[in-house]
Amino acid sequence: MKKYLIAGNWKMNKVTAEAAAFAEELKAKNFSNADEVALLVPFTQLTAVGEGLKGSGIGFGAQNVHFEKSGAFTGEISVPMLEEIGVDYCIVGHSERREYFGETDETVNKKLKALILAGITPILCVGESLEVREGKGEQTFVASQLFADFEGIGMADASKVVVAYEPIWAIGTGKTATPDQAEEMCAFIRGVIGGMYDNSVADDMLILYGGSMKASNAADLLAKKDINGGLIGGASLKVDDFSAIVDAAAQLK
Ligand code: PEP
Repeated sequence: MKKYLIAGNWKMNKVTAEAAAFAEELKAKNFSNADEVALLVPFTQLTAVGEGLKGSGIGFGAQNVHFEKSGAFTGEISVPMLEEIGVDYCIVGHSERREYFGETDETVNKKLKALILAGITPILCVGESLEVREGKGEQTFVASQLFADFEGIGMADASKVVVAYEPIWAIGTGKTATPDQAEEMCAFIRGVIGGMYDNSVADDMLILYGGSMKASNAADLLAKKDINGGLIGGASLKVDDFSAIVDAAAQLK
């Protein structure tokens, strides 16, 4: 049976009371596919969300991490700090971090390695800008991100990574990639992973689509063969909007 992951990326939204209420409400939904659902929340909301989701089967995690264990990195959060909270997932290389906070493929690669070592599942974001797509360079661009991001990561460790294809032109813009465009790139990513490792790693890898996914377009995107779920920003901020996407995935089982 096809595996899914429906992951909500709250970005810099919600204070603790809102986060706790959301987690409680989401838990009360009793999703049949709860183990295929996760919330990626601000650092300061991790404890409340982890507590609120306890016993639900729904995973949770952070949106970024530093690759060093400790040291003089003012304002940063380390992998051991996330481990202590018991997170399941951590987003790495989101395009907003690449664009606004100087994230590079080199730092992404170090973060992937640090998270894998700690047993926290990285959700690695890759994807091209509008300019690159208009120049028909999306495959070359995404392949180069994958080569650099997985540099020095062995086969067993690579299989622990979730990849999210997030075309930058579709994030927060309301402009979704068509199901065929999203499928084409997710299939392409699976092919690149197959070439870097082998078909079993590629076949088992969860490859998500992210970019203005919402209740009205989720079923068509999630039905595609190579799309194993979604990384969802705006539509993950309201319980009903997010739950509709979770239900769409459950109905495709
Ligand atoms: C994201 O932040 O990863 C994302 C896909 O955002 P949105 O769903 O709002 O486009």
